[in-house]
Amino acid sequence: MANLDVLVVGGGAMGLATAWRLARRGREVLVVEQDGIGGLAGASHGGRRNFNPHFPHEPHLGLLRPAFDAYRELEAESGRTLLPGTGIVSHGAGLPAELVVRRMRESGLAGRDLGIEVLGADEAERRWPGIRFDGTVLHTPEAGGIRADETLLALAESAVRRGAEIRLGVRAEIERVEDEGAEVVLESAGTGARERVRARTLVVAAGAWTAAALGKHIGLPRLRVTEENPVHFPRYDAGLDWPSFNHWAGLEDPRYREDYWHPVLYGMLTPGEGVKAGWHAVGAETDPATREFLVDERVVDHLRRYAEDWLPGVDASRVEAVACTYTTAPDGLFILDRVGPVVVLAGFAGEGFKFAPLIGRIGADLAEGGPGPEAFSLSRPGLRT
Ligand SMILES: Cc1cc2nc3c(=O)[nH]c(=O)nc-3n(C[C@H](O)[C@H](O)[C@H](O)COP(=O)(O)OP(=O)(O)OC[C@H]3O[C@@H](n4cnc5c(N)ncnc54)[C@H](O)[C@@H]3O)c2cc1C
Repeated sequence: MANLDVLVVGGGAMGLATAWRLARRGREVLVVEQDGIGGLAGASHGGRRNFNPHFPHEPHLGLLRPAFDAYRELEAESGRTLLPGTGIVSHGAGLPAELVVRRMRESGLAGRDLGIEVLGADEAERRWPGIRFDGTVLHTPEAGGIRADETLLALAESAVRRGAEIRLGVRAEIERVEDEGAEVVLESAGTGARERVRARTLVVAAGAWTAAALGKHIGLPRLRVTEENPVHFPRYDAGLDWPSFNHWAGLEDPRYREDYWHPVLYGMLTPGEGVKAGWHAVGAETDPATREFLVDERVVDHLRRYAEDWLPGVDASRVEAVACTYTTAPDGLFILDRVGPVVVLAGFAGEGFKFAPLIGRIGADLAEGGPGPEAFSLSRPGLRT
């Protein structure tokens, strides 16, 4: 039986980021991914994600500045541009604009290379005529679209360049977890070949499959997996500038009476695919083992009607839906913790990608026996039922 230093289960954004950080520190790392890099069943696929600094919620807010810096570090190491500075705008009756500006400044997030500009709706519509704005508009030019597919490649290439090994099409079955390490069977999807290995440290970054992979070995809170359906719309004018965008509905406000509203809409331009728009966290529960990649036509209809009213720059009649999962802990916060030889990185819901290179650093710290952030531990009060 082969003895490994660190085995990472899952080659999505979080597993690859952890492998990169560990390999940089000279650790011997093997990543196994049951699919390919950016496979459609995982949550990290697609061309774009948003780096959205316009939310006032701790403790995730406190991770944003180091996450932005971690992206710059990964760009420098990989030679790829990952945060091209498309900009991001937030507006709507439910946007706590003053609070967001204050928190961005107090937390040290705004300043240096990450700004915050406050605009009126008329000025914003002059700059970005593809979007109809409501109320105060916040704009951060340096944030916005993350090149998600490039980020996965940057992480994988940088990890391999630093000595990590990544095996694709290999599924891990965790057989035993003891204080000194974990015993795992690795099965190749192509050949069916099985190999039993022993890892001193096991990092589980298995997204929607976390409970299936690990649930019988350590106590986990219930992780809710939901099928989310954002859509892409074609643009009328490819020459228009499109920042990423968030529209915070004011559900108590009479102007938000239409029944298509949900609390927060996010969107961005994805080159080659169109303008993406999605309601944040409205999907129905699903099971990754039996998932049929269903599209909820009601959600799609709500997005189409939203676009008719608020996105004059897109053809709302032509819509392509996407199916993607959120995996969410009971209190909505990430899980970044270690139990014996097992590091658990889970519950990234619809917010994880912007933090990925930083989560990799936290995952590597945990794998090396360091402490993790208390707010994201498995023993925090929010996970006690
Ligand atoms: C529609 C949508 C929009 C989003 N928008 C944003 C956004 O704008 N900004 C943002 O910051 N975040 C966003 N997110 C969230 C972000 O994409 C996710 O939080 C992040 O990608 C999760 O990464 P992960 O590595 O935890 O999971 P995954 O990418 O799912 O990776 C887990 C991997 O583990 C593999 N695996 C599982 N079990 C095994 C096993 N036993 N053996 C081998 N491999 C295994 C799976 O195949 C999978 O590839 C969005 C998510 C979705 C779905």
